[in-house]
Amino acid sequence: MRPIFPPVKTGSNGSDRLKVIVSITNQKGGVGKTTTAINLSAAIAEKGLKTLLVDLDPQSNATLSYLDRKQVEKTVYDALTEKDLTFKDIVVRSSILHLDIAPSAISLAKLESRLVGELDGHFRLKDRLQSVIADYDYIVLDTPPTLGLLTVNALVASTHLLIPIQSSYFSLEGTDDLLETVEKIKARPNPDLQILGVVITLHDKRTVLARDIRKQIKEVFGSKVFKTVISKSVRLEESPAYKESIFTFAPESSGALDYYRLSEEVISRV
Ligand code: ATP
Ligand code: MG
Repeated sequence: MRPIFPPVKTGSNGSDRLKVIVSITNQKGGVGKTTTAINLSAAIAEKGLKTLLVDLDPQSNATLSYLDRKQVEKTVYDALTEKDLTFKDIVVRSSILHLDIAPSAISLAKLESRLVGELDGHFRLKDRLQSVIADYDYIVLDTPPTLGLLTVNALVASTHLLIPIQSSYFSLEGTDDLLETVEKIKARPNPDLQILGVVITLHDKRTVLARDIRKQIKEVFGSKVFKTVISKSVRLEESPAYKESIFTFAPESSGALDYYRLSEEVISRV
């Protein structure tokens, strides 16, 4: 089945736009953060909502899923470190209508050492994003597989957190550390941060193990677990190589349907 995207109404003057800033975060590597960030942001943009995908990972996988390196001049690193630059100066249009990208480059790996001793180190992203907030309905942040400064900046700047958890045996290991970080950030810099939900990724519904793992994740996260489960799909692995979202690359695939359904749930929860 091919997803159909009915437009979602937003305020015409921008004042009553939704203003959702959602971090896609899990410090475990390879759990589907970037795949979720690129396809969820595309699904939201397909609905006619103005969307910015911010790549906070020095690996730059989200950036390179939609842009060629030569399209990238200034990056998130520049916007966070150069006094005279704002996000407006670094944002690039993607080929998807309503979807812009704030690109990353390997230089982001230097951010932590660059901001050492800076009093506003944890607030840089929140502050510098202000220049573009009025332009978007949704801002989706792809974060690196650490709980370091970049992820903390993302959580301080966000209204919501979406946690992808891989459907695998050790998938819940480390979630305590993530939840502890979230609690610390809620205690002080960002009391409004909400866990939007947990999405199970890389699921193989044929196996009994996967069903057991889903049960376990539900025992821990209860109703926070999205009904939509993202199944394993080769198409989801392939689409970034073609600089396309799953919705143009393989609109009939299970991956397209899964991320479409996830976007519906996300929008209904905010
Ligand atoms: P990192 O922690 O390194 O940033 P990540 O959490 O962002 O990783 P992804 O890069 O999204 O994870 O996914 C890891 C690998 O798994 C990638 O090769 C990706 O294409 C693949 N992958 C992700 N989700 C799926 C899926 N549902 N079906 C098949 N392959 C997937
Ligand atoms: Mg990633």
